[in-house]
Amino acid sequence: MAERSKAYSIFRYKCPHCHEGEFFVDRNPYHLSTAGDLLEACPVCHRKYTPEPGFYYGGMYVAYALAVALGTSIFVATIVLWPSAPVAAKAGLVCLGIIGLAPWMYAISKTIWANLFMSYKGVAITEKERLRAEQRQSVRA
Ligand SMILES: [Zn+2]
Repeated sequence: MAERSKAYSIFRYKCPHCHEGEFFVDRNPYHLSTAGDLLEACPVCHRKYTPEPGFYYGGMYVAYALAVALGTSIFVATIVLWPSAPVAAKAGLVCLGIIGLAPWMYAISKTIWANLFMSYKGVAITEKERLRAEQRQSVRA
C-alpha cells in the first residue's frame, strides 16, 4: 500500500495530513474502553484532528454504509454457499457479522470520514498554512 494513499491512512489508522502519526489513542478497536478515541493532534505533524466540534458525527453515515454493505455481502454469501439454510440462520449470521465487526467499522468510519475532508500535506508545514498562521497573528495584533 502506497504510503501517500488515502487507503494507507484509513486502514493503518494514520494521520490524514502526514500519514505518519497515529490517529487513535489505542490502535486496537477491540479494546472497547478506548475504542474510537482520537488523539487531540498528530504526534508527528502536530495538526489537529478535529476541525470543528461534532465533526465526527458524519462518520455515522459511513458506518451505516459499511454495515449495510457488510450485511448484504454476508447475506448473499449465505445464499450462494448455504442455499438450504433457513432465513433465520442467514439473518443470524448477518447479525453476528455486523456485531462482530462493529468496533472495527466504528474505527474505520472515523478514518474514512477524516480522509474525506483532510488531504495529504506531508510532515512539514505548507506555505498556505504558514500564510494563514501569519494572517491570524496580524488580526490579533
Ligand atoms: Zn500528522
